[in-house]
Amino acid sequence: NHTNAGSIAEIRTALADGKTALIAGGTDLVGTLKDNILRDYPLTVINLKPVPGLNYIKEEKGILKIGAATRLADIAADATIRKSYTALAQAASRVASPHIRDMGTIGGNISQLHRCWYFRKPENRFDCKRKGGNSCFAMTGDNRYHSIFGATAGCIAVNPSDTAPALIALDAKVVTDKREINAEDFFDVRQPGNTVLEQGEIITEIQVPAPLKGAKSAFIKFALRKSIDFPIVNCAVMVGGKDPRICLNAVAPKPYRAIKAEEALDGKKINEVSASAAGEAAVADARPLTAAKFKVQIAKTLVKRAILAAV
Ligand SMILES: Cc1cc2nc3c(=O)[nH]c(=O)nc-3n(C[C@H](O)[C@H](O)[C@H](O)COP(=O)(O)OP(=O)(O)OC[C@H]3O[C@@H](n4cnc5c(N)ncnc54)[C@H](O)[C@@H]3O)c2cc1C
Ligand code: SF4
Repeated sequence: NHTNAGSIAEIRTALADGKTALIAGGTDLVGTLKDNILRDYPLTVINLKPVPGLNYIKEEKGILKIGAATRLADIAADATIRKSYTALAQAASRVASPHIRDMGTIGGNISQLHRCWYFRKPENRFDCKRKGGNSCFAMTGDNRYHSIFGATAGCIAVNPSDTAPALIALDAKVVTDKREINAEDFFDVRQPGNTVLEQGEIITEIQVPAPLKGAKSAFIKFALRKSIDFPIVNCAVMVGGKDPRICLNAVAPKPYRAIKAEEALDGKKINEVSASAAGEAAVADARPLTAAKFKVQIAKTLVKRAILAAV
């Protein structure tokens, strides 16, 4: 069944049965359903996009507000976001392809499931830990694109979102129908989800505080293909304000705030030397499995390049 929602209240009621899934752009959800990758299959999908008042970009009292159903293409093209919240526009512009950015929403982008090939194998062939099983097949299998910072809850799949590190670097908040969550605290490792959202909880808005005077941000992504591809590693930074904020993604089960890199950069003039030192510090705690070692060098380099790109 597919139903169009008319309000958040209607979605809340529908999701309460535990057998209904929320769909926004559908660019992630439909693939998981078509391939039947999970243990449980929803009886109904309820569509968020017809709900009025969830598709907007506006600035109010020094806060950028983005409705949860706003398309990534609109975020990438928005003049205010490009100028003042640059990392977010750059991140949105690097997601997938024009068609997917035209369908995919910001709420869906930060809530998407991970891309581990065992997890995604059609017909739930690998009933791994993220589905309630006992094994992580990637741990002893092909883990070349997996975590370089170890496992969380026994899983080494990485969070693949491009906008997540930008939102964390920009110190954003995720607003739901129940609460406000710092973007940094929004991500988790659950069975099977990647967020702290409770069953039936709905993202309604993203809020980003206007960067302080002098602060600038940038996002850089390394992917195998330029046209359409998930990140091997991506990185967003905000520098020049009060304290630097640096976040990597696709390197760990949750977006990885590179605190040691921020400390290395804090109070320093930004140049090749300080940016390189921050890159080194960002991967100081990396413990990659053998096949994923190449990602350490990429992460280090992206941190350096993102810092230099921001100024
Ligand atoms: C070929 C391909 C390439 C891709 N490449 C990239 C890439 O390079 N970078 C990247 O970041 N992503 C990529 N994606 C992943 C992803 O599909 C998109 O980024 C997109 O943003 C997901 O948004 P959506 O609105 O389509 O989500 P949906 O597919 O509609 O939903 C995804 C999940 O989010 C939940 N959800 C959606 N909205 C809300 C809400 N408001 N509140 C609570 N839960 C919600 C849904 O219930 C579902 O579980 C790619 C996908 C494909 C198919
Ligand atoms: S890395 Fe995570 S998602 Fe992949 S097989 Fe292991 S437990 Fe499952």
